[in-house]
Formats: sequence, C-alpha cells, structure tokens
Amino acid sequence: MRLSRVFLPRVAAAVLVAGGAFAARAAASTPIAIAVDASDAPRRIFHVKETIPAPAGTLTLVYPKWIPGEHSAAGPVTDFVGLKVSLAGRPLPWKRVPTEMWSVQCEVPAGGGTLDVAFDYVPPQHAWTTATAEILVVNWWPVLLYPQGPGDNALMFNPSLKLPAGWKYGTALPVTGDAGGTITFAPTSLVMLIDSPVLAGAYFKTIDLTPGQKPAHFLHLAAESAAALEISEEDVAHYRRLVAEAGALFGARHYNDYHFLLTLSDHIPSNGLEHHEASDNRGLERSFTDDSAKKILGTLLSHEYVHSWNGKYRRPEGLVSGVSADYQEPVDSSLLWVYEGLTEYYGDVLGARSGLRSPELYRENLALYAAAMDNTAGRAWRPLEDTAVAAQLLYDGRPDWASWRRGVAVSTESELIWLEADTIIRQASGGKKSLDDFARAFHGAPGGGPAVKPYKYEDVIATLNGVAPYDWNGFFEARVRRVAPRAPLGGIENGGWKLVYTDVQPELLRATEEQTKSYDFSWSLGIVVQGEGGSGNAEDGEIRDVVPGLPAAAAGVGPGMRIVAVNGRRYSEKGLREALRAAKAGKDPIELIVENVETFKTVKIDYHGGERYPHLERDASKPDLLSAIGKPLAPVNAK
Ligand SMILES: [Zn+2]
Repeated sequence: MRLSRVFLPRVAAAVLVAGGAFAARAAASTPIAIAVDASDAPRRIFHVKETIPAPAGTLTLVYPKWIPGEHSAAGPVTDFVGLKVSLAGRPLPWKRVPTEMWSVQCEVPAGGGTLDVAFDYVPPQHAWTTATAEILVVNWWPVLLYPQGPGDNALMFNPSLKLPAGWKYGTALPVTGDAGGTITFAPTSLVMLIDSPVLAGAYFKTIDLTPGQKPAHFLHLAAESAAALEISEEDVAHYRRLVAEAGALFGARHYNDYHFLLTLSDHIPSNGLEHHEASDNRGLERSFTDDSAKKILGTLLSHEYVHSWNGKYRRPEGLVSGVSADYQEPVDSSLLWVYEGLTEYYGDVLGARSGLRSPELYRENLALYAAAMDNTAGRAWRPLEDTAVAAQLLYDGRPDWASWRRGVAVSTESELIWLEADTIIRQASGGKKSLDDFARAFHGAPGGGPAVKPYKYEDVIATLNGVAPYDWNGFFEARVRRVAPRAPLGGIENGGWKLVYTDVQPELLRATEEQTKSYDFSWSLGIVVQGEGGSGNAEDGEIRDVVPGLPAAAAGVGPGMRIVAVNGRRYSEKGLREALRAAKAGKDPIELIVENVETFKTVKIDYHGGERYPHLERDASKPDLLSAIGKPLAPVNAK
C-alpha cells in the first residue's frame, strides 16, 4: 500500500494460490455464486446476492476483516448493510457474534440447503470499493460474505458483476461472458477473488504495454473526463520500460498477465493497493495532462508493481492471512520494513530506470524522505520496527502531534536503509554485485502463475549473506530495532551525495503543496500549516503539526491553533514566507497572533534561518553510486 503524498507516505507457504494445491482442494466443494450489482454505484450503493451451500447446524458467515496490503482490520463492516438470509424463500434469522463484529451466525435447519444471502455495501469515496459518477472500482472483500470453517480460504466462487450501462472495464479475472451489462467470470478461489479488483468507467482506455508478448501487460485508465485519458506516447513508453526493467531486475514474473488499474479523479484520494496480477492505483484526474499532478503520481505504479514480487509472492510469515490462515486472523506486520521498505526502494529505483522520474527528481525524493525522517521528533522514543508492528493503528494516526507520535515510517525510512545496503554491497564487491543480486535470488525464479513463498527475518539475512557476507543482522538491529536519533543517511553518503538545506523549494514539495494546500515549514519554524481548500476541514492557517524542539514549538505554538496574523498583517501563506525572509535579513522575531479555540495570543518566534528545504548535493570525493543505481538494466530497445 502507499499513500502517494510525496514526502511522507503513510502509505504467505510455498503455497500455490491459483491452479495448484488450492484449486485441487476447492474443486470438491460447490462454488458460491456471487452477483454484485454495481449499476447503482454512482450513488455509492452496491447490491450483493450470494447463494451459499450450507449443512444443518450453526453457520458462521464472516465479512473479511484483515485486508491484505492494508495490514489492518480494515474490512469496512460499518458500511455493510441490509443483510437478509433465507432458505427456500423463508427468512432465516441471523445474529452478530457479540465479541466479533465481522461475524454473523444463523441456524440452518435439518437437511441443510442453499442459502440466499443478500446485502448492500455503502462506501465513502475514499474506500477501496467505491465509485464516482464516472468511475467504479470493485475490490471484492467489502462485497462478499463467506462461511467460516476449515479450508475456507480454498472456497470457490462463481462471480458476476453488473456495471452501469455502457461502462467499460479492466481486470485480471478471467472473463467468461459479457452480455447485457453483466460480466461473468471463471470460477475463482476466495484468495484470488479478493486479490483481483475490477476497474470500470464511462471514460475508459486500455493500453497494451507489451503487444504480442506473454505474459501480457495492460494499463487501464478510468477517468472523470475524456480529456484526462490523453496519455502521451512518451508516458506510455515509460510504463513499457517499467515492465522491461522489472523483468531485468527480478529475472522472473509471478503472474499470468498483469493489469495496472488507474483511476484519474480528484474525488478518489490518491492511494495504491497491491495484488498478484494487478494493482489498484488512484491518481489525480490530470495525472497525464498536468505537470504537478504527474509529479504526484510519480512512482505510484512502479511501487505497487514491485509488490507483485515483494509482498505478494515473497511475503513475511506474519502477513499470510487469507493463504495459510483466513481473513479473520490478526496479522503480525513486524517485517513491513521489508515488505513496504524494499518495495518503496525498488519502486523508486525502477521509476528512475524507466524514466518515470528524472535522476534529479529521484534524488529530490530521497532528500525529502531523508530530511523528513531526520526531522521526526518521535524517532527519539519509537524504533522503526514499532512503526511496523503498530501500523494497523498508526496508518490512521491524526496529523496533530504526528512528528512526536512518529507514524508508519516503513516506506520512507526503510528506503534509506535498503539504499545503504545496496551501496555496501556495491562497495564490498567493487561494483560487481548489488542489491539487484539479492532481488533476483529472493524474488526471482522459477516464476509462473501467482504463488506465495513466505519468509522469516533469517531468510532475508541468509540471502543477503549469500550475495555479500557482512554483519547484516547487526546492520538491521541498529537501524530497525533500536532507537536512533538520526535518520540512516549512510546510503546517500556512500552513494556520493550529501543532504543539505537551501531556501529553494523542491519541485516535488511544490507540486504536493499545490494539490494538498498543506504548507511544509518543518525544517524552518517546525510547523505544517493547512491552507483553505486542502484536505480535511481545516481552516486557512490552521497548524496541523509542530515539531517538538524547533522554534515554533519552543515559542508555545501547538497543533490545532490557527495563525490569524503574521507581523501584524492578516495571515496568508505567502505572507508567512515573506516574514521568514525578512527575519533572516533582520534581528526582529516573527510575531504571530494565533487563535486557540476562542482565545487569541501573540507568540514571538526568534528564528532567523529563513526558508529551509532539503536537497542532495554531490560529494565529489566519492563515486556517484546513486546515478549508477538509477541506470537502466534492460536493453534499450526492450519492450
Ligand atoms: Zn506498498
């Protein structure tokens, strides 16, 4: 998963998932028919009907709770409404299990039978299964119930989906029919159904990224407008390169076909979710037609694509819910710094190798990650590993006191750690080996259809030692499991660059601020200020967070206060920037009037450092490994 806010993203067994052991076991049971009617989706209501064979006795039906990729008990059970269960036309009473909100039970009479189960799902726009007037995304877990019991993850479904009239769609699910606006799919296991979203829309375009090749790769776009579908040949070429570069990196693929699903909408929040054979990506409407929106889309698709190898095929043992356990079992996400961190690392590296991001923006992103992590107050008390373990709660952490709370740092900070590991291998081997050798050994052959090969921490260490012997355990102990006052900057420094601060705002930060209206003064005053029209219900000038120990916090400013005036003039973001410049040139403090609920106070901030933003600066005394890491691997004419 990844929230694509540029500088602070939030965001299973050698068991065959499809075709092998699972399918063989499942074939014995009668499939559950599931019909999802999304023709009313623009009103954000989905109607579901299932027919579930059930023996006599107590039947427990469960709504998927622990959602893969969300790493939390995020099954949206409060938006599951209108449940009716019946047998041969007679209603069957149901009761929620008082200690388990995602479970309902009913008593099936003697002789058993096939239950008719009907319910609706009523999501908000930010949900994974959601719609606008023009776009629809169906992830199946919010629109299904399944009978809990031994081997429930091997249950087979016969799915169908009704779309709004005239809409087109894309999905990795094999389609068996498409008539009268209803699509029918081949019988699918619970695991693969939950792993296979459908994207549909009134304005829809599919681009074949690898024509005539096997496996096939498709980019499906669903947009709020026809104009937003106008992707340039150059942008398409970058996504073709991405597919080639991933193949060159890992050496094998673990899917039959791959489908990049991408919503282009300003009303569905930017986000991404990984699957074996697809990724559910959400970009701004003008991601291909506006420069700053394209910068924000950045490496979202390459991140989610890398997850097909790192996260879906290779998965930490604690995150195998739905494969060795079922979707109701809690997960252990302690190894998210591998699952998300290595994915973020290679998502950005492949972004550079495929041209999705220029070398300058690749480095700018690293600078923003490094500076954000280095400036997080909470690193004084919470080790990185705890942000992984507690991710199931921290992903929903509020912005106020976020720096002190320390949110989920498994993508950003871990990217820096994996970069350092890569530079250590390159230095130790005189450039003959790199982390790419680890990726090939850990995530590569044999390839084929979707499969899950779980791993432990020790497997990561052993594979690294196979590439380049080193004290990898000590390396990760220090960076992951212990509190460290400074961010791990060794990779940037080994890579021939230095983290520096100037008054020039990075392009990625400017693009983010343009879209979010959230203004980042973290590295100067130590505050983040919300502008009008940004996310949430913030008023113009509201302070979203303060960094403890920096000048604003020292002067008594706290999150939730609102800046009313700067140096005697009504607050504006531009006025605050001017005040920072003026204070740098002079000796007077910056004077703010802040409103705290209904009380006003004046604070004086004795700060004269001006605007400060992170950048990487070349260190000519060392070889430029960052540039070497970003060099394409695939032959230039590879498709
Ligand atoms: Zn991710």
